[in-house]
Amino acid sequence: MRAGALAVAIAGTLVLAACGGNDGGTAAGSVAGLPVTHFESGLRPDAPTPDLDVRNVSDDDADRLATATIADVEDYWSGELPDDFGVKFDPVEKLLSYESNGTNQTNGCGDTKKNVNAFYCGQDDSIAWDRGVLLPTMIQQFGPLSVVTVLSHEFGHAVQYRLQDKAGITRSTPTIVKEQQADCFAGSYYRWVAEGKSKYFRVSTAEGLNAALSSLFLVRDSAGTAATDNQAHGTAFDRIFAFQLGFEQGPKECAKIDMTSLQSRLTERPFDQADRNEGTLPINDTTLDFLKQSLDAAFAGAHVPSPEIVPGSGACSGGPATPPASYCPSDNTVNIDVDTLAALGREVNQSAEWNGETSGGHGDFAALSEIASRYALAIEKGVGASLDNANAGLRTACLVGAWAAATNKLPNTVLRLSAGDLDEAISDLLRPDSLVAADVNGKRVDAGFTRVEAMRTGYLKGSTPCSKQYG
Ligand SMILES: [Zn+2]
Repeated sequence: MRAGALAVAIAGTLVLAACGGNDGGTAAGSVAGLPVTHFESGLRPDAPTPDLDVRNVSDDDADRLATATIADVEDYWSGELPDDFGVKFDPVEKLLSYESNGTNQTNGCGDTKKNVNAFYCGQDDSIAWDRGVLLPTMIQQFGPLSVVTVLSHEFGHAVQYRLQDKAGITRSTPTIVKEQQADCFAGSYYRWVAEGKSKYFRVSTAEGLNAALSSLFLVRDSAGTAATDNQAHGTAFDRIFAFQLGFEQGPKECAKIDMTSLQSRLTERPFDQADRNEGTLPINDTTLDFLKQSLDAAFAGAHVPSPEIVPGSGACSGGPATPPASYCPSDNTVNIDVDTLAALGREVNQSAEWNGETSGGHGDFAALSEIASRYALAIEKGVGASLDNANAGLRTACLVGAWAAATNKLPNTVLRLSAGDLDEAISDLLRPDSLVAADVNGKRVDAGFTRVEAMRTGYLKGSTPCSKQYG
């Protein structure tokens, strides 16, 4: 976040009703209409041996997973392309496995040496992947589904190449449109796997999809990239949006993504000129004052007593205890452990993520979101909403999103959302012990998919759906 000049514009504040009917948008017990499942995700023990010709292939895990993924996405698209688009499916012409740290290989797009990547190459209709560095690094961090995520995205580009004008693709289509479509196509394939239709893979909707989303998170653009950059792939927020769109609505919706539809929702943008610290505020007394001022202004419309934010152990005396931040209903305070939150709020080191070696910092907005979530519970209590169930957790994440969107318009406040903040919130939401989508007792919904969706609903639509969908 950043501290801007004092804004005095008059803006609407967030409102919240105690309860409302669930409009069917999202139920706490489902993932986009599928049951919440827990089992080990990855290659099926009885998966067939793919009948594919891969140049320079090895018998290591990365190649086994990559080859099975290509065979599986081909199964999926051989049904979808004729059914949804009336287009005959042709497999990609060439497949290449290479080691970016080993012997050079070439394909229609050039040399592979030092290219830590996986890519579709339109020149010779091929897909290539680095089994030397990229795939093993991702497998180590997120397991086998990371390979499935990356290569189903690359295959999405092959689909685009086949659809051409049916996906609105021309020579001048901006990169971000192609990338958003590819993420969306990957999401639509994932739904088919989650529905148990794949011969090769199985994915649980809780931990399995969490791994897919975490893989997408890792390959996000760095904060401050412009969406118009000719290399732009999107923020994690944008990429996960596209993946979830495909998962929920299928490939026809993916093919409709164009610059016009993206303009209203893309969050990727450069840092403001006034943002001298590239969006990093230290978690200290001054920032906490700004936070309190921002939350008070955002939730003034609820007309309920706002909680005090009190430094302490991060737990309430007599409970609940959800350190590093707890909402204490008995005295309407949010008790916070400033040191732990300051460590959580340290700047993100994106290149260290690739080695799994981070400082533990998820960015200032991760820490501020945790506090905001406990604050939101006070507002929910004030209006008589439930605090101790799955809906309370999702409603809370939704309100944090609504607050994030409101910050830049709030009167008499200085806290401003900066580029990268939303990805810091997602980074926090995907942590196993995140509070942002947790109820008053710290219990959170298992599916990261649903947690991220709840936060995004608030961000894009404001606070009204928070009580409606998670009533
Ligand atoms: Zn791509």
